[in-house]
Amino acid sequence: MHQLLVKNELLGCIQCGRCTAGCPVSLRTALSPRKIIYQNLREQKKLPKSQDIWSCTTCRTCQQRCPKGVSVMDYIIGLRSYQVERGKIEPTVRDALESILKHGNPWGRAREKRTEWLGDEKVRILNEGEETDILLFVGCTPAYDPEVQKSARALAKILNRAEVDFAILGTAESCCGNEVKRLGEEGLFEMLVEENSKLFDKYKFNRMITISPHCYNTFKNEYGLNFEVLHYTQFLKELLDAGKLQIPQETAEKIVFHDPCFLGKQNDEYDAPRDILKTLLPEKNELLEFSRNRERSLCCEGGGGRMWLEVESDSPRNAEERVKDARTLGAEIIATSCPFCFLTLSDAVKTTKSEDKIKVMDICTIIAEGGF
Ligand code: SF4
Repeated sequence: MHQLLVKNELLGCIQCGRCTAGCPVSLRTALSPRKIIYQNLREQKKLPKSQDIWSCTTCRTCQQRCPKGVSVMDYIIGLRSYQVERGKIEPTVRDALESILKHGNPWGRAREKRTEWLGDEKVRILNEGEETDILLFVGCTPAYDPEVQKSARALAKILNRAEVDFAILGTAESCCGNEVKRLGEEGLFEMLVEENSKLFDKYKFNRMITISPHCYNTFKNEYGLNFEVLHYTQFLKELLDAGKLQIPQETAEKIVFHDPCFLGKQNDEYDAPRDILKTLLPEKNELLEFSRNRERSLCCEGGGGRMWLEVESDSPRNAEERVKDARTLGAEIIATSCPFCFLTLSDAVKTTKSEDKIKVMDICTIIAEGGF
């Protein structure tokens, strides 16, 4: 806590409120990043309410909008670290963190089951010392969640058909730790960085691709790795440009793309997913756009550890708002490129009783089902 308070950065806050105005969680809860920075930390030097600390999705909109360069989100993560050190965490978060420590995934699933997602899809599993061009980092949610497994299988199918030289780490793969860091468990995160970096050193590969923008973000920005990391949409765009991925223009359905915060806002990649989707659509059928898109995209509330935290509010969840907006646009498919967005939006389709109107599909599933 003391460390959080001594930074001069806090003195720069002019209470303009731009952080709160852009915060997707403040739309439905009492969370106010401005209040945390100015009132709680700078003036009163006391902890904000627990719900405010834990409702943040770490989408980073606050930090991007601050005209004074205050690292608003980092302060909130710092407050979480302070709570974690004092053991003040929700039991659901504690379980997820313990599961990562024991089994290498937050879902409480056995390590031996990490390759069950493969089904009948043939993918090479690298042994130590072996070589491949592309290492596919599957990630915990695509490996274990039955619905997201379909995206992993679709991607493997696309890569196989495009004759990409790729392989996975199988049961040796562990959690990347992106959410661990954002939940404030800095010690566990550092351990994962060390262990994963040592693990990657045991294999020879040129580049890594990830299914989740969350894995992509932490490997690219927080590990200090000596190889290039790409999100799968960036890699598929590369294949498309090189003529190695022929996508049939058969999708007649109306598609809108939902920007994941960890690909868009946090890593400035807005075009690769759109370029792929535009290739899928016949010319007369334009890709639909949310009014809150790209850097203004409405966070689905799946990041920052929120998959393990319920936030109380009487207002509709952001994902439900998103489904409503998509239906107003006349979309039949909400295209995603992130496992957490896929899950939160799929759930919102059910809770808004929109199953017969709209569906959520990951981009790789749309391609694979299109026959490629
Ligand atoms: Fe303070 Fe920056 Fe938030 Fe404005 S945007 S209230 S300067 S922290």
